[in-house]
Amino acid sequence: MDIPRQLGHHEAAETLPLVTESATVTDVTPMDENRVEEVERAVRRLLARNDVGHWLDAEDDGADVDWADLQSRAGEAGFPESELDALSDLANRFERPYPSLLRVRVRIDDADFEFAPGQYATVTFDGTPRPYSIASSPTRDEVEFCIRRVPGGRLTPDIFEQLAVGDEVTVRGPNGEMVLSEPSTNDLVFLATGTGVAPFKSMVDYLFDSERNVVDGHERDIWVFLGAAWADDLAYREAFRRYDDERERFHFVPTLTRERHLTEWTGETDYVQRVLLKYVDESAVDTAAVPESLAGSLAASPALDIDARIDPRTVDVYACGISAMVEQLVAATRAIGVPADATQFEGFG
Ligand SMILES: Cc1cc2nc3c(=O)[nH]c(=O)nc-3n(C[C@H](O)[C@H](O)[C@H](O)COP(=O)(O)OP(=O)(O)OC[C@H]3O[C@@H](n4cnc5c(N)ncnc54)[C@H](O)[C@@H]3O)c2cc1C
Repeated sequence: MDIPRQLGHHEAAETLPLVTESATVTDVTPMDENRVEEVERAVRRLLARNDVGHWLDAEDDGADVDWADLQSRAGEAGFPESELDALSDLANRFERPYPSLLRVRVRIDDADFEFAPGQYATVTFDGTPRPYSIASSPTRDEVEFCIRRVPGGRLTPDIFEQLAVGDEVTVRGPNGEMVLSEPSTNDLVFLATGTGVAPFKSMVDYLFDSERNVVDGHERDIWVFLGAAWADDLAYREAFRRYDDERERFHFVPTLTRERHLTEWTGETDYVQRVLLKYVDESAVDTAAVPESLAGSLAASPALDIDARIDPRTVDVYACGISAMVEQLVAATRAIGVPADATQFEGFG
């Protein structure tokens, strides 16, 4: 498949035109939550239902637990595979640093920064440049980024531990070819994993701020499919839920692979590409062309009660996230018949 050139933008990042060396940081806010107590309670429930609740004393704190040892004991005790997976997910979540997802907003006073929704900028903090999709719409005053901590990474641990309101960062750019197509009556489908939703937050705000969701009197359906592990990893969940509540033709479909270990999550739980297929109008698809691995999803019932369906022949699709996932998202859209020139995507490397 012609998976794209723009999956290798990293190299370009350092050489983009300088916008400013003194963008002022105005906001640094965690977007995820500290859920260690919830995790601890879930682990106690898991041990209790496997009849080994006594492995943890009532006064044991999660911080005292040797998580690797607990998992190997569970393995030796013959826990079912699904329980071992759950324990491993919960251990990882317990040990994950908080916060791991940040909103960072900057104000640029000394330059005009023009960009199209969907583009990225290079942010340099403490001498290290990295590209970040712009999450804010150009219709708004400040420029926003949504940044995930990569443990062991060169820049993000410093951003999470040191970046503060009032600091200055260098901004270069913009760059990136994933931008909104010319307005048409096509519906819009945004497919994202993790922080891959950032450019789509910019695009969606822009569409509504500039009323480009309506073309020639036709209001377009706008779909945002967003995949993550846990509920609090869904960046901009409140904003998307608000749009979903307020606008009949906006559909927010989050899918969470691990949240069921912590809460009674009743939404989608599968990978984004499979969830997408559940909301597609099956009668508009050449089912013989859909690979077996996806065919089941096309026939499966969606978890959300949404009347609208996606017609792959009349949509503009945008996909963004870690490159390997983007490849799978794009492959799924091709399999259901979305024309190649109706699909744009960006990989984070
Ligand atoms: C066009 C573009 C837009 C981007 N937009 C965003 C964005 O909006 N938000 C955001 O958080 N990141 C985004 N990134 C990724 C970002 O540029 C950095 O790669 C990331 O923040 C890690 O930087 P680091 O210096 O901490 O880690 P590095 O030292 O650069 O990398 C450490 C390792 O982690 C891998 N890695 C990079 N990103 C991730 C990730 N998200 N999850 C797991 N492993 C990863 C790298 O491939 C590398 O192997 C974007 C990348 C590109 C190319």
